[in-house]
Amino acid sequence: MASAPQVVDSQGEDIQALYDTALVWDAHAGVFPDPKVDLSLLDTWREAGVDYLSINVGFDVLDWQQTLATLAAYRRFVLAEGNRFVLAGAVADIDRAKQEGKLAVSFDIEGMNALNGNLDMVALYHALGVRQMLFAYNLKNAAAGGCHDEDSGLTAFGSQIVAEMNQLGIIVDGSHVGARTSLDIIAASTKPVVFSHSNPTAVWDHQRNIGDEQIKACAATGGVIGINGMGIFLGENDIANETILRHICHVADLVGPDHIGFGLDYSPQIDVDVGAILRSRPDYWPAGNLYDTRGIKHAGPSQLPDLALGLRARGFSDNDIRGVLGGNFLRVAAAVWAT
Ligand SMILES: [Zn+2]
Repeated sequence: MASAPQVVDSQGEDIQALYDTALVWDAHAGVFPDPKVDLSLLDTWREAGVDYLSINVGFDVLDWQQTLATLAAYRRFVLAEGNRFVLAGAVADIDRAKQEGKLAVSFDIEGMNALNGNLDMVALYHALGVRQMLFAYNLKNAAAGGCHDEDSGLTAFGSQIVAEMNQLGIIVDGSHVGARTSLDIIAASTKPVVFSHSNPTAVWDHQRNIGDEQIKACAATGGVIGINGMGIFLGENDIANETILRHICHVADLVGPDHIGFGLDYSPQIDVDVGAILRSRPDYWPAGNLYDTRGIKHAGPSQLPDLALGLRARGFSDNDIRGVLGGNFLRVAAAVWAT
């Protein structure tokens, strides 16, 4: 046998061993939040070797009541399926889940419409397992300006929410808001801030992506930028590993490998037409942003081992790769949730 393939094979085996022992974190699922969703689909992440997933239970497009109903249904499922899943409220729960070969899950909410204008709701969501919250979903709301709307900054109500999240131990997430608004959020937070699922504009110019100033400000808090697997945020509906690695390398060149992770925004729901949803609300998903692309592609967790191999080929150390796969987000959770 020629020597070159042997090298590739041995590296492949080696990276699989690294992947299997690494803590693998996906900071955001793209499953459409609905109490009727069969969460058996979470097995997609478990079977791909993911150890922790933040699953969205609501976003500003939906009524806040649906967020509570979805949260109730998802909690019931995860708690009933304790042989496969762990409802993670603390980092120790994630360590335990990995040891037991289970998927640790907590919840996130995309936009503060879920509070219905009531700050007290933040503590309620925390008590129910929400560990990460975004401030707006593309359009401005009572808390913050959106990325597809007037970038109106963080409001006084939004500032109160940041303080409440810091105090309770919920990760402050700057994805989906406007650039200035995200910098306001970062300035207001006393804890690390993440962009759970946002890609660098410098690699692919899209309003949902984030500029270098935002990336640097996030990293300065100790935070992490989660690379989004949606093809229209990576390029021209492009989910090639090469493309994803270009996004990762840009962030690494800018702020170092300790501030990169994955928030793939992935959904295995084959019965949901993402394109139809995006076209149904042109206010939240406005024209000119590729939302009308037919057959939007999506990188899922099955690509993660190959991405790890690609990182090694680009000079990332094993330690760096472990960080990108999940260690970096775990560091943020340890700093934020433990309050
Ligand atoms: Zn999102």
